[in-house]
Amino acid sequence: MKRHGLFRFFAPFQRTSPTQPGTRSGMTLAATEPPIPAPAAFPASTQDVPENDFDGQQDQRQLETLLNSMQDAVIAVDAEGRVQWANQGMLELTQRVRLQAPLVETVRDPELLRAVKEAVDTRTVRGGRAIAIVSGKTFDVTAAPLPDGGAVAVLRDLTERELLEKTRRDFIANVSHELRTPLTNIQGYSETLLDTISPDSPQREFLEIIRKNAARMGRLTEDLLALARVESGEKRFELETVTPEDLLRDAAQNFAETASGRDLKLEVKDQASLPVLADRDAIHHVFGNLLENAAKYGGPGTRVILGARPVEDAVEFYVQDFGPGIPSEHLPRLFERFYRVDKARSRESGGTGLGLSIAKHIVLAHGGSIRAESELNHGATFLFTLPVATEENPSEPA
Ligand code: ADP
Repeated sequence: MKRHGLFRFFAPFQRTSPTQPGTRSGMTLAATEPPIPAPAAFPASTQDVPENDFDGQQDQRQLETLLNSMQDAVIAVDAEGRVQWANQGMLELTQRVRLQAPLVETVRDPELLRAVKEAVDTRTVRGGRAIAIVSGKTFDVTAAPLPDGGAVAVLRDLTERELLEKTRRDFIANVSHELRTPLTNIQGYSETLLDTISPDSPQREFLEIIRKNAARMGRLTEDLLALARVESGEKRFELETVTPEDLLRDAAQNFAETASGRDLKLEVKDQASLPVLADRDAIHHVFGNLLENAAKYGGPGTRVILGARPVEDAVEFYVQDFGPGIPSEHLPRLFERFYRVDKARSRESGGTGLGLSIAKHIVLAHGGSIRAESELNHGATFLFTLPVATEENPSEPA
């Protein structure tokens, strides 16, 4: 019967004779022979694979070639966290790979060690971001449990991608910044002209259009700048311990003028007493965006509910409106930048398509989560969580 290569490959490492001494795939692996000879270390043949098992050897060589040709670094440990094998990519990252040595002696990255330990302990796939393996490089770590009780970690180099992302964000932030002054000038001068021009002048309509569009571009550049700052992590959040009541009050006060202007009835339902960790200004911004949407899409003369309730280790805040709602197929994409259900309506109402994206990044930076619930024609509710302030998470800037 043909053995299944993958299964055998992941079988517990046995220190027996190599498949082909002297070749890359046939290394003798023994605890007495550290370090692993370059270019790669793989489990030697297992007891159930006799020396003359041609199929078995072939399968193993194929897997070795496959793993060594991967760009990602791969390392496996047993249930005790001792290194069992590593691919070529891993050996290129660190010279310290030693068979049977504890992983902590091989790679001293706390995130990688945590992900691997959790994968071994919980038997589930765990992830993380490792920044201490090679100085100046970032790796995405995925650690998955192995059938023998150990785990295998795959390390993907994110350095280049992150650099590209940073270049993109910096470019957007710089362009937005440069556009600020000319846009303010256009807006300012068009307003001055509107103040001085006679009410029945035919130019009035043109000036009104110029002012309106300059204002819209101004909002867009401000939102792009805000998004670039939170997305990049450059924005420092001043976290403080604050009660849900205070946050709701701030939001309600700020919204009072808009609500009365649009004949909206705002109800506040506060059912949470435990204080949360929040940057008041940033959360104010989140509520501002959600309430602005509730007013914009809910339509005049309806109700908006602003509330807070306890959930596990967090407080869930919500903004509910009774407008047309959002078809369910759009819900998973709402928080993407520039995603709009109805583009024309959003533009017409002065929307930039960035409000929910900014809200998402602010909430994530607080360690919370955000989501939307809606049924068509039955309104929409936007909910986000903030962690409860405890002694373990003192209010330090994020
Ligand atoms: P915009 O500036 O277009 O409002 P947002 O990021 O704030 O951008 O929202 C994205 C899209 O989500 C909106 O264009 C709209 O289609 C939809 N949306 C947001 N809030 C609501 C709401 N309360 N009711 C219905 N649709 C909403």
